[in-house]
Amino acid sequence: MAVTAPNLNTKGRAQNTYDVIVIGSGISGGWAAKELCDKGLKTLVLERGRNVEHNKDYPTANLDLWEFPHRGGMTRQFLKDNPIISKAAGFGEDTAHFFIKDKDHPYVQEKPFDWIRGYQVGGKSLTWGRACQRWSNFEFTAPAKYGYGLDWPIRYDDVAPWYSHVEKFAGVCGHKDGIEAMPDGEFLPPFDLNCVEAHVQKKIKDYFPDRHLVQARWAHITQPTETHLKLGRGKCQARNLCMRGCPYGAYFSSVSATLPWAARTGNLTVRPFSVVHSVIYDEQKNKATGVRIIDAQTKTTQDYFARVIFVNASALNTNLVLLNSTSNRFPNGLGNDNNLMGKFVAFHNYRANVNADIAGFEDQYYYGRNPTEPIIANYRNLHQQDTDYVGGYTTFMGAFRPRGNTAGLTEEIGAAYQDALTQPGNWRVYMYMQGETIPKESNHVRLSTTEKDQWGIPLLITSVAYDDNDEKMIKDFLTQSTAMLEKAGCTNIKPNDSKQPPGLDIHEMGGVRMGHDPKTSLLNKYNQLHHCPNVFVTDGACMTSTGNQSPSILYMALTARAASHAAAEMKKGNL
Ligand SMILES: Cc1cc2nc3c(=O)[nH]c(=O)nc-3n(C[C@H](O)[C@H](O)[C@H](O)COP(=O)(O)OP(=O)(O)OC[C@H]3O[C@@H](n4cnc5c(N)ncnc54)[C@H](O)[C@@H]3O)c2cc1C
Ligand code: SF4
Repeated sequence: MAVTAPNLNTKGRAQNTYDVIVIGSGISGGWAAKELCDKGLKTLVLERGRNVEHNKDYPTANLDLWEFPHRGGMTRQFLKDNPIISKAAGFGEDTAHFFIKDKDHPYVQEKPFDWIRGYQVGGKSLTWGRACQRWSNFEFTAPAKYGYGLDWPIRYDDVAPWYSHVEKFAGVCGHKDGIEAMPDGEFLPPFDLNCVEAHVQKKIKDYFPDRHLVQARWAHITQPTETHLKLGRGKCQARNLCMRGCPYGAYFSSVSATLPWAARTGNLTVRPFSVVHSVIYDEQKNKATGVRIIDAQTKTTQDYFARVIFVNASALNTNLVLLNSTSNRFPNGLGNDNNLMGKFVAFHNYRANVNADIAGFEDQYYYGRNPTEPIIANYRNLHQQDTDYVGGYTTFMGAFRPRGNTAGLTEEIGAAYQDALTQPGNWRVYMYMQGETIPKESNHVRLSTTEKDQWGIPLLITSVAYDDNDEKMIKDFLTQSTAMLEKAGCTNIKPNDSKQPPGLDIHEMGGVRMGHDPKTSLLNKYNQLHHCPNVFVTDGACMTSTGNQSPSILYMALTARAASHAAAEMKKGNL
């Protein structure tokens, strides 16, 4: 009988070997890919979702509302089937394709938690709000100083040059305001405040001299630089349809900026439909050697290999992947010797807002649909603790005129209604909070021991809730914001606590926190696992505390910093 050679691909391992593997292609993964490829490292990005190409895959970008079958709304059946994701900010018929469907991606809510996700190349970078303030040193030092958290292993000065690096590439617009609690950066020209916002700004300055209402910083290109133009990214047209994908590439996303840049180096490979199961740990070599995926479509298993792994699957998914990466050496998850992985999860408190009317200014309007908002930098618990709670909050603010001056009309039909629609409505003013929450061991995620998803990966259990500190902060925000709007001459002021569960803020953080001491933290000051240093975690999972500023620009800066460190250590042969 003739013996035939078995059909073995002996080159398989070599074909599947790269210098670095990045898990996830969202905001932080895109940055890891760009920086590593720029350093000449062959980089594989593993992304669980479908591919999304700039422009080609923005099917709704140029549609008008009346061109949608349901005029932008979702059907009752869809809302019934997707009660969580349909609550997300900006979710609608025009953006639904950039969010998951609830039923496809279950998780277990031990306590109510709305986990908002976007599984595709680009992740949530396609749908994010683009607010980009820097953290100040107050945020890095407050947890240890006021005794409500672990000390960060880094300070503002460690990350400031990396903020500059990412701001210049991403394109961030804003003023240099000289505010200690909200440091300045490398900004493109800002959008103007409208007349009512400028009025409220002046009144706050008059009555509350230690509070600063200024234009916030946003990842919008208002004046493209050479770098932006090289990528075909242009000036923002103030359409405010960003979450559909921007045909001008005017807001920052992985799809319009970091990934195409990385691709130009010739060092990038992106593998969509790759659901990462775990990081592979080699007990002989005492290091991670690769990543195991399940192909999302064929459900087959495949291993990829690299010297260094960046885990950027977004905060809670990064916890999931690492907890699921078990071995004899790490039976509780990769690098999890202290059993703290998944613990100290925190988020941002978005529960409270205040809405009001303001009279006057009826002869004034504003240009375009401004996609930005002003902000009041945190003014609480800075140089000393001056409230009955710890942590601080940022206040976003805005003023607008609704389309249609329909107040007082009962019928939504007829000539009077039609005429009213041609007039702008009265000015409205709003403020909403983005508050720090305190990382606690009891707020945690862990893996289900009984339930798995369609790829055989354990479901994540979320056990996260507000506490008394949050309630006190909400009360203070509502009181202070009401007082500021009163001084600005607003009427009909309505403070509101939505009581929404955590999660909808979409700023979940922690579980794999940074720190000096391996006994109390998982990552060192360069985002390497203390006990498996060739694995880096640079998304929200790494956050030691939440601060009060929108976090993504910090993830970008930390990622660029860690990638630079990884490349240098690889060159020295240390990794
Ligand atoms: C509506 C909205 C508004 C927001 N506004 C702001 C804002 O104004 N400012 C701000 O700073 N932040 C904002 N955010 C939050 C911001 O989007 C996130 O902080 C940011 O996207 C996190 O980056 P990331 O790389 O960690 O995760 P993502 O951008 O979510 O990317 C993670 C990627 O990993 C992939 N992935 C997950 N699990 C796996 C796996 N097992 N295998 C392979 N791939 C996997 C996902 O599919 C995804 O593509 C907003 C978010 C939303 C949705
Ligand atoms: S507002 Fe600017 S960034 Fe947003 S879609 Fe319009 S042009 Fe693009």
